[in-house]
Amino acid sequence: MALLADIHSNLAALDAVLRDANGQGFDACWHLGDVVGYGPDPDQVVERLVELRVAGVGGNHDGAAAGLLPLDQFTPLAAEANRWTARAIAPETREFLRGLPQMVREGEVTLVHGTLADPLWEYFSTYEAAERHFELQETRWSVAGHTHLPLVVRQPPGGAELDIVVPEHRTVVTPGPGQVCINPGSVGQPRDGDPRAGYAILDIGAGEVAFRRVEYDIAATQQRMAAARLPGPLIERLTRGR
Ligand code: ZN
Repeated sequence: MALLADIHSNLAALDAVLRDANGQGFDACWHLGDVVGYGPDPDQVVERLVELRVAGVGGNHDGAAAGLLPLDQFTPLAAEANRWTARAIAPETREFLRGLPQMVREGEVTLVHGTLADPLWEYFSTYEAAERHFELQETRWSVAGHTHLPLVVRQPPGGAELDIVVPEHRTVVTPGPGQVCINPGSVGQPRDGDPRAGYAILDIGAGEVAFRRVEYDIAATQQRMAAARLPGPLIERLTRGR
């Protein structure tokens, strides 16, 4: 199962990830929301997901671009990018974004953008948020996005302390028994200091998850953002992966 989070309208990054994933092999591909926002290619990214039948959940940026969430809950730069996206997208893209569910359960995996306690807004980035999330998790595996930081957190059986791994390129994590939450990192706007596009492949049978980073044409995305007059700091941060 290939896991793609926070694509953020970055078609060059998405296509590089899909090429890499095809070389790795996977049976299904899911997205974790924030398909749009920040980047220059919302319609093309959604077209690609529809063409490849990549299903998934909605994120806060998807809701804002589709007119379902107010812009005043975003930082000024994110709100500006969402305003641009809302104006730029085709009606079919808006319909796609409006139709995204907040949570999906697929066999032994639950998919959500933020956390199970607050699917659109909460960051899976504190011990308290992780504990609330695991209380609501009914499957062995869950997958979340939203923070743009690759992560594996395991809740061992019997209430022992959470076990946390911060994976890099080619890290393969084989969590022991218990429940696990995976963040595959961000395809379109990484924030861990590595500007390469990030994603992960979960092998449920083998009980392991492989993290990958993929080089893509960052300058091409930046040029398209500049042509669309998207905010400068959003263009510049792609170079640094922050
Ligand atoms: Zn995001």
